[in-house]
Amino acid sequence: MVLAEVLIERSANALNRPFTYLYTFSKPLKIGVRVLVSFARKEVVAYVVNVINDNRSVDEYEKDSGFKLYKIKSVIDEEPILNNEMLQLAKLVSSYYLSPFVSVLQAMLPPSLKPKYSALSKPKIHYEKYLVVNNENVSSLTKKQLEVFNIIKNNKETLKSTITSKSIIDKLLEKNLIKEVLKEESRFKVPEYLKEKQKILTSDQENAVKEILETDKKVSLIEGVTGSGKTEIYLKLCEAMIKQGKTAIILVPEISLTSIMMEYYVRRFKNDVAILHSELTAAEKYDEYRKIANGKAKIVIGARSAIFAPISNLGLIIIDEEHSESYKQDVLPAYHAKEIAFIRSKQIGCKIVLGSATPSLESKARAEKGIYKHILIKERINKQALPKTYIVNMLDANNLSHDSRIISNLLFNKIKERLDKKEQIILLVNRRGFSTSIMCRECGNIIKCDNCGVPLIYHDSDKSLKCHHCGHSLKLDKCPACGSKFLSRIGFGTEKIEKEINKLFPHAKTLRLDGDVAKKRTTTFRILDTFRNRQADILIGTQMIAKGHDFPNVTLVGIVLADIGLSLPSFRNREIVFTLITQAIGRSGRDKLIGEAVVQTYLPNSKVIKQAADQDYHAFYNEEMSIRKLTQYPPYTYLVSLTLKSKNEDLVNDYSSLIVHELNNLKITGVTILGPSTPYIPYDNKLFIKTILIKYKNEEKIRKYIENLLITLQNKPALSIQVNVDPYDF
Ligand code: ADP
Ligand code: ZN
Ligand code: ZN
Repeated sequence: MVLAEVLIERSANALNRPFTYLYTFSKPLKIGVRVLVSFARKEVVAYVVNVINDNRSVDEYEKDSGFKLYKIKSVIDEEPILNNEMLQLAKLVSSYYLSPFVSVLQAMLPPSLKPKYSALSKPKIHYEKYLVVNNENVSSLTKKQLEVFNIIKNNKETLKSTITSKSIIDKLLEKNLIKEVLKEESRFKVPEYLKEKQKILTSDQENAVKEILETDKKVSLIEGVTGSGKTEIYLKLCEAMIKQGKTAIILVPEISLTSIMMEYYVRRFKNDVAILHSELTAAEKYDEYRKIANGKAKIVIGARSAIFAPISNLGLIIIDEEHSESYKQDVLPAYHAKEIAFIRSKQIGCKIVLGSATPSLESKARAEKGIYKHILIKERINKQALPKTYIVNMLDANNLSHDSRIISNLLFNKIKERLDKKEQIILLVNRRGFSTSIMCRECGNIIKCDNCGVPLIYHDSDKSLKCHHCGHSLKLDKCPACGSKFLSRIGFGTEKIEKEINKLFPHAKTLRLDGDVAKKRTTTFRILDTFRNRQADILIGTQMIAKGHDFPNVTLVGIVLADIGLSLPSFRNREIVFTLITQAIGRSGRDKLIGEAVVQTYLPNSKVIKQAADQDYHAFYNEEMSIRKLTQYPPYTYLVSLTLKSKNEDLVNDYSSLIVHELNNLKITGVTILGPSTPYIPYDNKLFIKTILIKYKNEEKIRKYIENLLITLQNKPALSIQVNVDPYDF
């Protein structure tokens, strides 16, 4: 009999092992295809990892193993869903991220191919019917019929849906004069773009391209100020790859950016480009995925998951805005696209280019050490100056008028100036951590934990402040620093700002772009386009508008409240705030007009805010590196976090304490364990949650410990565990 070992579609750790089924069909079963089986009395999709010929009969097998053998109900795929290279990659990723193999497959594949029951209803290959001539014996045709026949003949092939006279077609088909052929078509239609004007590279750009192509280092970091022309460098690198017969993947961080980037790349590389991002429908994704898998694309451009594009001859991976947190997925497998790029590079030897005006500390540190090729571009194209920036202290009543508590006098005046001159304005409303921490309106103090120094998080459920790190909890009615009772939650929403602006500037045309607005497909694109075409004066938005965009007529950027992200309980909060503000300011004055920026803050003495306002990455980097060294966070250590969940509160508490105890007992040098602690949202669907953070330098022993832990916990289905290797923040 033939047995198949399969992985069940559910990605829980407890099910991360093969289950055996009986295969009874005559066609040989291939490893790597999906099948339908019944599991725990439900029909589920499974992925075949092994096929075994067993000499025993079913009865003998059942007696030996003590399990009943169930049959595979049907086979879903003709061919394995991944080629060898991608299969190998999936294994490497699963092992690096200590994540169930099935979860990796689900992250890698487009909706229609995922090993998931819901995938079965998703669209498959799309065919268009074409008509071609089959036989030229036209003697019996009427004049009308002959006319249609000739059209088809002259066109060689004709899309059936374009011919209106259906009855004539039927007649011609009936007479066997023409026949139908099916052709695979992509449902994704790229818009028609204007022809591009090729730019002459500046010497900085020329050098960057040359050095990246010539270096024998695998990874290059382009640290180039905002507006230094990085996109043009990427395009040239892609051209070089195509010349060498190789291919490239370009990752961009935000959905809002893909459409613009798509335009740049499609204009240059036409039909050689495939697009993969979350704004596509499942059908479009499937078609683009097949275009890549069938070797019909040379350039793939997309968001995070495009790093898994099954493209062959990969020569280069470009990660634009490499610091962006959107490259880290927060559900299983919690992969970071950059890490996947490293894994692919090790696997097949391709080059990697990381680009940013504000590189992540990890990347910058590696570049400084000489592990990466470091390319520094200090000047904007046309040597345009960086924007002049003003910091406004919002605690000083003199800076505000009676008309608004949100828009300072300075920002108001500058907006007015721009409106008069018909120049455009961007207002950034940072919504990260909106309304989660508490600040004193008198002294600007953000309430922090006495033990850990991280900002406390306000929990509406019991009106208390909680520490995300140590679990410390308290209730407050006045500021511990100055005694003031004037405490408030931090954060303004985009809608509120838009209302305020409409009130202050009733004649200005405003647009708003945030996560809520952008949920609708194509809205993002439309809003950005309207703004670029200068059909609106003010664009108000969240971090979505901060990165990468190039609006030549924008000469003023206002950061409505710079402090917000600083209150988040994360070692990365200063980096995130610095990057966001710097990137946002960088949208100003990118063309011929000089730009300005206004940064409003309740923390006018904050170093990070000053560094960001000055666009001084160097100062920020040095300062932040010394803080990371002191507190032992990346890049000085590695992190891995464990999240345990169960309906049974005691089980979670006991087991998480046990893990911490065991880890401490290993006495590994350079390892610090934090927790178990209760996360910001302590319950998830009536499950109790505990998290543990491990900081380490020697990875082997920690990894071994976690691997064993995962195996042990497979026998404890009441307790689920999720591992996050290199969590982005904590
Ligand atoms: P970055 O990504 O570094 O912030 P961009 O790639 O968006 O910068 O380029 C900034 C602006 O400069 C864009 O408007 C772009 O069209 C323009 N630009 C880039 N390279 C050149 C060049 N060689 N000659 C003229 N304009 C250029
Ligand atoms: Zn604490
Ligand atoms: Zn105070």
